[in-house]
Amino acid sequence: LAARMHVPTTEIIKALFMKSVMVNINQTLDQPTAELVARELGFEVQTEQTVTQTTRTEMLDLEDIESLEPRPPVVTIMGHVDHGKTSLLDAVRSARVAEGEAGGITQHIGAYQIQISGEEGERKLTFLDTPGHEAFTAMRARGAKVTDITVLVVAADDGVKPQTVEAINHAKAAGVPIVVAINKIDKPDANPDRVKQELTEYELVPEEWGGKTVMVPVSAKQKLNLDLLLENLLLVADYELDLQANPNREAKGTIIEANLDKSRGPVATALVQNGTLHLGDILVVGAIYGKVRALYDDRGNRVDSAPPSTPVQVLGLTEVPQAGDEFEVYSDEREARRIADERARKLRESRLLEQAAARSARVSLGSFSAKAKEGELKELNIILRADVQGSVEAIRASIEKLPQNKVQLRVLQAAPGEVSETDIDLAAASNAVILAFNTTFASGARQAAEQAGVDVREYDVIYKLLEDVQLAMEGLLDPEL
Ligand code: GDP
Repeated sequence: LAARMHVPTTEIIKALFMKSVMVNINQTLDQPTAELVARELGFEVQTEQTVTQTTRTEMLDLEDIESLEPRPPVVTIMGHVDHGKTSLLDAVRSARVAEGEAGGITQHIGAYQIQISGEEGERKLTFLDTPGHEAFTAMRARGAKVTDITVLVVAADDGVKPQTVEAINHAKAAGVPIVVAINKIDKPDANPDRVKQELTEYELVPEEWGGKTVMVPVSAKQKLNLDLLLENLLLVADYELDLQANPNREAKGTIIEANLDKSRGPVATALVQNGTLHLGDILVVGAIYGKVRALYDDRGNRVDSAPPSTPVQVLGLTEVPQAGDEFEVYSDEREARRIADERARKLRESRLLEQAAARSARVSLGSFSAKAKEGELKELNIILRADVQGSVEAIRASIEKLPQNKVQLRVLQAAPGEVSETDIDLAAASNAVILAFNTTFASGARQAAEQAGVDVREYDVIYKLLEDVQLAMEGLLDPEL
């Protein structure tokens, strides 16, 4: 940090000391502290999210260096709606999977693997089969990096469209190479050259025009040039990427899909990115712990293991993880449990913090008053509970008669009876204050109000209730009350 700011290290230590943070020269600063120092020393801080996201999930460890072997590329298909992403995924799959697999029934588990035989023997390719950049982006947002190559599908009769551009931007931001599939070339109005021309505006220049981007004209419908596309994907993998992993170690990877199956329990599709996943392995996904009870490949076959770049369905997790969660296998069961428990504890803590933040953002009559004074809030939402219908009507009528020139009052609900948990939920969701007249809380409601940070004000004199509301509207109610 000192080097980047061109200041002596002692400056940083001094600046932190002034802020009562004691550090020595060997310590690593966390991001907020680093930002604090930089600002203190007059720098403008920019955080490089993209960089950390793409480099974070490098699944290789130093120990793997000696035992690396090539692994198949993982491919994602992106492009504008209706340009043929799903058709292409299906065409590639049916052309390749069915071979030799008598009536092979395909299972949609979020990804599939195909084999192609070339001069150098069998080669594999893994396709993520949720097309579109939403899934891609959702995973990236969680820090996961699973895609090695993006196939950008552009319909030859339609050209570059808004989602084509979005997909290009997503792939570029992730630093993933793009191979263009110019689809629907079977159509009479197909114009591949126009597509190429349009793509040059986004720095995608075809090889035949002196550029670097591989563009393959295909037809998903008539299964034209699919082999050419696959061969080119392998070429890009071989010449532009150095895809390697160590198959002889405990597995690591990313969950790409997960759900709760009625009879089988939590089922997750794991993409192994390093190592090999075996039956009986102990794994930790986020804060979830599990033991691999069964593994299924993308054809629904039971398998014993899954090497790098292989998607497998995993049974045996204790809960359903989220897509984009990373998993790791541990040889020591106790260690795995400890890590999962520790993460669960941290998760609970951060949830509590979030709840607290949500609570403090909730309106109370007092905080409303303070904000009304500043002219910040213009609307006060009220839920009214009173002992009997008669008082509900009387109070409601009086509230509505209060002068509302600065603040608008909205009575969301007014009913006789106890303050219920539903009232609390409604108040929390719509940022309302609950006024309770001559009534009590239904069981559990008081606790719910406390937890949600909902302000429930109890009164037994109508005059007092009206006075408080009026004071709050005028910004004169003591916020502490
Ligand atoms: P997605 O929205 O990108 O997944 O697009 P789809 O795969 O659902 O395809 C959209 C439409 O284009 C469907 O009606 C497909 O049958 C059609 N389609 C896809 N590929 C081709 C192709 O190569 N040629 C022709 N003529 N139609 C295609």
